[in-house]
Amino acid sequence: MNKIAVVGAGISGLSMANYLEKHKIDYHIYERRKKEDLAGHGFLIPQEGIEYLTQIIDPDLLFEHGSFLKKYIQYSHTGKILAEKDLNNVFAISRHSLINLLSRNISPEKITYEKTVIPCDRQKGSLKQPDGNYIEADIAIISDGSRSRIRKSLFKDEKMRTVRENEVVNIIQDKEIANSIENDFMKFHHDQGGLTFGILKLSHDTILWYSQFDNEIYQISECSSHNLKKYMLEVFEDWHPLVSSIIQKSSYENVHLWCVYELEELNPFHTDNIVFIGDAAHPLIPFTSQGVTSALKDSHVLTKHLVEENNITEAFKKYEAERKPEIETHIKNGRTLLNQFLLPIDQHTDNILPISYK
Ligand SMILES: Cc1cc2nc3c(=O)[nH]c(=O)nc-3n(C[C@H](O)[C@H](O)[C@H](O)COP(=O)(O)OP(=O)(O)OC[C@H]3O[C@@H](n4cnc5c(N)ncnc54)[C@H](O)[C@@H]3O)c2cc1C
Repeated sequence: MNKIAVVGAGISGLSMANYLEKHKIDYHIYERRKKEDLAGHGFLIPQEGIEYLTQIIDPDLLFEHGSFLKKYIQYSHTGKILAEKDLNNVFAISRHSLINLLSRNISPEKITYEKTVIPCDRQKGSLKQPDGNYIEADIAIISDGSRSRIRKSLFKDEKMRTVRENEVVNIIQDKEIANSIENDFMKFHHDQGGLTFGILKLSHDTILWYSQFDNEIYQISECSSHNLKKYMLEVFEDWHPLVSSIIQKSSYENVHLWCVYELEELNPFHTDNIVFIGDAAHPLIPFTSQGVTSALKDSHVLTKHLVEENNITEAFKKYEAERKPEIETHIKNGRTLLNQFLLPIDQHTDNILPISYK
């Protein structure tokens, strides 16, 4: 097998490495961040994602680090139940835990941290490090996230646009609050639309929460954690007491402010010896809850075709043909869910679950 470089050690890069390990294919990962530098947010993962994850992570270990959610409950902002739906194996886990679990099977010599990879303008299909040294590889698997610099440099005409939604995501450790709620996915909605607060219990003492803002009405700019907390308290002041107590008691040290972007049109998933996976191939908006599952499926499908095909270009083509239609469905569903989010609650349709299914 050819020499493989993986750029980015997020969910897609690390899951790719796990699949390559399974098939005893050699690779090296280059990651920009420091090893210990992990942002504080987390994920909602539908059943299909769990099926792919348990192919590469010990299920017992995985289930110890997160929790299955029983029901989705949609509330008004004051706490009146508007709708409920049973959930089928939807799992919640922190990003920190998932990255740690995915890193366990990767030996330290196969990953270099604090190494930013940049494209080389002069030589088609080649990548280099900021010190000018080339990355030596026959295949480059690019998993450098939704705002991929490498994708942008190769597809110069691509257009990214801001999505009419920003998200604040945080994790709070508080036994009392965690004890007071069930293992459900609770989501509170402003009557007029464009503002929600979601709560997911991760463990007996930890909760993941997120709020979604219509950014044409609520303008949150990059600001200090102190100001962000103040803003959150003002906006959610008259909401259900559970919401305001979570906002009040959270530490904002690792809070994540997500300014969401999408590609106007998807690019090809490959060019020359370079192939894109995860958000680098196809940024997905938050409403889909499909970013992690799609990253896992990309890695799985790409590995399968690399193993089965002698010709790299054929393997890349088959990977793209298998993955792109499903991604297009999630993009379409994501836009429908975004439009619904912007509407007053009494104009929502019956499909209440904020997860895209293919
Ligand atoms: C706040 C938030 C909440 C989310 N919630 C959910 C959810 O509930 N469910 C869900 O399924 N998805 C969710 N997502 C989406 C999900 O995080 C992504 O779809 C998923 O992580 C895809 O991972 P990735 O590896 O492709 O990209 P990323 O996780 O972005 O990883 C990219 C990696 O590449 C590294 N990198 C970047 N540039 C370079 C470079 N030039 N050289 C080397 N390394 C580089 C970065 O440091 C990073 O480690 C959420 C995302 C955010 C931001």
